[in-house]
Amino acid sequence: PLILGIESSCDETGVGLVRGTELLANTVSSSMEEHVRFGGVIPEIASRAHLDAFVPTLEQALADAGVDLDDVDAIAVTSGPGLAGALMVGVSAAKALALATGKPLYAINHLVAHVGVGLLEESIAPASHAEALPEDLGALLVSGGHTEILRVRSIAQDVELLGATIDDAAGEAFDKVARLLGLAYPGGPAIDKLARDGNARAIRFPRGLTVPKYMGTVDAPGPHRYDFSFSGLKTAVARCVEGYEARGETVPVADVAASFQEAVLDVITAKAVLACLENGITTLLLGGGVAANSRLRELARERTAADGITLLVPKLSLCTDNGAMVAALGAQLVMKGVAPSDLAFAPDSSMPVSSISL
Ligand code: ATP
Ligand code: MG
Ligand code: FE
Repeated sequence: PLILGIESSCDETGVGLVRGTELLANTVSSSMEEHVRFGGVIPEIASRAHLDAFVPTLEQALADAGVDLDDVDAIAVTSGPGLAGALMVGVSAAKALALATGKPLYAINHLVAHVGVGLLEESIAPASHAEALPEDLGALLVSGGHTEILRVRSIAQDVELLGATIDDAAGEAFDKVARLLGLAYPGGPAIDKLARDGNARAIRFPRGLTVPKYMGTVDAPGPHRYDFSFSGLKTAVARCVEGYEARGETVPVADVAASFQEAVLDVITAKAVLACLENGITTLLLGGGVAANSRLRELARERTAADGITLLVPKLSLCTDNGAMVAALGAQLVMKGVAPSDLAFAPDSSMPVSSISL
């Protein structure tokens, strides 16, 4: 089936076209530049930008794919989680298209879509993994608003939350620490780049929720065995920077960035691998904007290889928010025979990850 996917949950207006598991087009327009001077996304500005960008983005995607709206079999749209006003723009546009064309509409979960994008043929490299894509997947979802370990028994029907952050998301920690180090928003890519010139072992920052009290044992799992916490780490980085400043020393920003990054990635990769091993899961998929991080991709590759777990990593442009991921999940729903959404739905800004579609 040919699926049109629409994404507008944050500051990216995305329209993607997917046929089955084949990516045909992925057009993204971002309002990021308009938020830089505020140091974070301003919801009203993002909503307005979606309204400006939607039609040109749609037209570009159709042109890139070389298809007409008539050729589309179904429309998929992000219905949550995300910024309420931003979601409303994409959902309104999708409903209008569905009404005008009579095509079925799927109201889908943005977080599950971050995982679903890994099922596109483009994402499944090396190619030898393609035919071996299992139904029981582990997923490490690390984005601006979420940090979760998921068990995906079926992307269209059964997504279970194994663990999640109890405070900040990993991407949020990157953004906050970047601001502290005087780097531009968004902080994730800036820290990734700076950390390459730093020593990740220069400063030992705390690894949240990894002590026995929280981890427990295999027989008696602790209350936060697969959970994460990054707010203590963020505070530790702030105290560290203040310490240099109080002593009149220059802050070794590259070392701080590398050491902070390593602390985040050490915990998320270790817990994701642990969750796979303890639940008999043999394939781990990375998803979400932080999955674009070069050190995460490297560390995840090392650690999964050491434990015989197959790692699937979507290409960079498919990790951050885009419409192709929405189309990819929509295609899975259509192929698994899931019923389309009733057009009388409203976006859910806090849609839980276990709810795949509305
Ligand atoms: P959610 O998906 O939870 O609703 P979101 O859509 O805002 O949140 P994404 O677009 O998936 O989040 O990811 C954006 C986040 O990814 C930002 O916090 C950004 O700093 C982070 N990020 C992007 N590239 C990198 C990178 N190379 N290294 C680390 N973090 C990165
Ligand atoms: Mg964004
Ligand atoms: Fe996202």
